[in-house]
Amino acid sequence: MSKTDIVLLPGDGIGPEIVDAVTEILDAAGADLNYHKYEIGAAEFERNGKLIPDETIDAINKYKIALKGPVTTPIGKGFKSVNVQLRLKFDLYINLRPAYSIANISKFQNVDIVTVRENTEDLYIGEEHQIEDGFEAIKRITVKASDRIIRFAFEYAKANGRKKVTCVHKANILKQSDGLFLARFNEIAKEYPDITPDTKIVDNMCMQLVINPSQFDVIVAPNLYGDILSDLIAGLVGGLGLVPGANLGKEVAIFEAVHGSAPDIAGKGIANPIALLEAAVMMLNHIGKKDIAEKITNAILKTLTNGESLTKDLGGNANTKELTKAIINNL
Ligand code: ATP
Repeated sequence: MSKTDIVLLPGDGIGPEIVDAVTEILDAAGADLNYHKYEIGAAEFERNGKLIPDETIDAINKYKIALKGPVTTPIGKGFKSVNVQLRLKFDLYINLRPAYSIANISKFQNVDIVTVRENTEDLYIGEEHQIEDGFEAIKRITVKASDRIIRFAFEYAKANGRKKVTCVHKANILKQSDGLFLARFNEIAKEYPDITPDTKIVDNMCMQLVINPSQFDVIVAPNLYGDILSDLIAGLVGGLGLVPGANLGKEVAIFEAVHGSAPDIAGKGIANPIALLEAAVMMLNHIGKKDIAEKITNAILKTLTNGESLTKDLGGNANTKELTKAIINNL
């Protein structure tokens, strides 16, 4: 197996701690990766005045694959979220977020849901305007972006033996924008007769997910609902410390945890590295290192179901280093 070049972006807050833990596990598993480390985020902004330095952009363009820690965007005027900027810059229009139940860890068993979140438009275009007594924000939903994400959700379902795709919307209120997303879903669904199409209004979807999550398979949603629902689904299976995400475009793929930079626990050495490790597993599958991906997945499952060295977010007392060691021992 040949060494694969990847860009490593430690990011902010707990980012550097969990990136160190994950690379230690990847190396112990024999992933054979060549890491090219670059800076990104609020700490880099403090140092050099740029949230995403040009060298980082060039490296992602060169190597095409990145494993990224969480980043903090400074609060204030003129700062567009680093994640949103990266997604737009590389046209990473797919945000793929799988979440599954783990015995002895998850509150709900039989959850196996893949959320396919549109990643380039909706309210996240960040167009806010002042009006007389406050602000208004633009929600953009286009045919192009809707079609490509909905088609990806069905293609993903087809390629992975999944049976149902649920479209989440609020078309009863947002008749034009969400109405368009829903109409494109109903149209594209006709091309996939073997997959059951399902539609849910977002508020009902939240209730259904909490009452009976096992009824869902693949979910496709515009950006904002996809963001919110994937945190909710993370909660069903054991929390933000477990769930990964892949940002995929035609050329570039950036793998990350669903969670943020967790400033409340940064620097304490107690962060759970598993969400980022699961993102690394998605990356290994993406670059064809499926055996190593499976080896790491099995070690994660063994560690979690045995309740070995669990971090605080999972109900244990272990620190990042102890959990990392336990996973390595189970490889
Ligand atoms: P963002 O807006 O960037 O998503 P956020 O402020 O919504 O960030 P997170 O940074 O994801 O939230 O943190 C939410 C909570 O979950 C915090 O209490 C944090 O400590 C906890 N948390 C997040 N990730 C982890 C992790 N890997 N291990 C342990 N706890 C975590």
